[in-house]
Amino acid sequence: MSRRPGFPARLDKAMQSPPRGALAPAAQGKPLARALPILPVAPAGLGMDSAAVRTRMVQKLAAQGIQSTQVLAAMGTIERHRFVDSALVNQAYEDTSLPIGLGQTISKPSVVARMLDLLLAAPLASAGPLARVLEIGTGCGYQAAVLSLLAREVYSIERLRGLHDKARDLLRPLRLPNVHLLLGDGMAGFEKGAPYAGIVAAAGGEAVPQAWCDQLAVGGRLVAPTQMADGKQALVVIDRTAQGLKQSVLEAVHFVPLKSGIA
Ligand code: SAH
Repeated sequence: MSRRPGFPARLDKAMQSPPRGALAPAAQGKPLARALPILPVAPAGLGMDSAAVRTRMVQKLAAQGIQSTQVLAAMGTIERHRFVDSALVNQAYEDTSLPIGLGQTISKPSVVARMLDLLLAAPLASAGPLARVLEIGTGCGYQAAVLSLLAREVYSIERLRGLHDKARDLLRPLRLPNVHLLLGDGMAGFEKGAPYAGIVAAAGGEAVPQAWCDQLAVGGRLVAPTQMADGKQALVVIDRTAQGLKQSVLEAVHFVPLKSGIA
């Protein structure tokens, strides 16, 4: 890939500068050295080439029922070990969630694959790559990187400044100009990027915020962990059709809580 770096933007700044897809580059002018906490080689214990372990991970995902060849290819491409702490790289391709700081976790590969597989089953995705996608909960930026290979534009919102900064630093060397990182409360969605062909939440709330439904394009799909009446979380899929919204409740999941405000 020979793409230029994306421009992470603060939501409050972005709100003041309207042009869609031209968000203010908050990271410009910072010394590059600070932005390169990446591994120069394959992680220790993973052998000479992390591609082989990624291929095994992808084979397992396919065997577990992930249908979309695009999702499988994207997960075979993005190096998950870049997004986890150096002490945890040996577990980067295991099907496990891992801590990313500030009490948050990177979702396990099977869950990321499942959510994106559902997203790509939306009617709007059948015509080609998804146009614009919104992710709520950037975390370390892994899923945003995977999404960058599946959608033309990716807007990803994080409410914790520490993780927003971390994702910006981890994503910079990948040079993904279609990923727009936003610092803000994702409960309100991100109106400026709407309508979205896909919306995916990486944190679970008590209900799906109305703003997300409002910002979904006709033919688009929203995938969000949501608390059920029994207090347990399940994956909720909402499709916007010409006739209105259609909701399905799928399997039980365990995501970190969706919280309001910026911290
Ligand atoms: N997709 C991420 C997973 C991050 S975990 C990855 O690939 O690493 C979920 C994230 O959602 C956490 O970082 C948490 O801070 C964030 N979050 C929770 N509520 C939020 C909100 N209202 N707006 C934006 N981000 C939120």
